[in-house]
Amino acid sequence: MRIREESYGYQVRFAPETLAAMRVEAVRMAEERGPVCETGGLLLGQIDHSARVVWVTEADSLPPESQAAAHELTMSPRSADAYVDKRRRQTHGLVGYVGAWHTHPGVTAEASDLDRQALKKLTSDGAPCLLVIVGGPVEVWETWLDGTGRPHVHARLAFPYEDTDADDPAREEGDRGDS
Ligand SMILES: [Zn+2]
Repeated sequence: MRIREESYGYQVRFAPETLAAMRVEAVRMAEERGPVCETGGLLLGQIDHSARVVWVTEADSLPPESQAAAHELTMSPRSADAYVDKRRRQTHGLVGYVGAWHTHPGVTAEASDLDRQALKKLTSDGAPCLLVIVGGPVEVWETWLDGTGRPHVHARLAFPYEDTDADDPAREEGDRGDS
């Protein structure tokens, strides 16, 4: 699946197994904790800035020590780092940290204010970060969990130096001054 992310117009290409992995995790969470509990995890792959393409080749579930709750998700940065390092070594550098995904079960796949703040934190170590939200209204969501439909997917890229509150892609190019 490929979609366009909303901040800079990069194309995001998901390997089919990444969406399958997200679905397995969403189903597991729904069975364990109920239908509104969010889940999520890390996205691994590569960002090709010259082609403006984000390759998402792995979607993993929550690292240990993370907490999932209805409408709130806290990922443990320490265990996430360790996991990414391990995958980077195992793939000889082919796969690296790309960002994070989480679910909005039965609701719109748009970034909330909390999600934007979280994205800002995720870029604080100096690397760009892709935020992916998988959601959709109840009927869309349920057909996805059943394995017969597709969820709504929202993606948004952030760079460490940007002011995410401004939400203005022109800023990155700088210097036009067309205000
Ligand atoms: Zn969210």
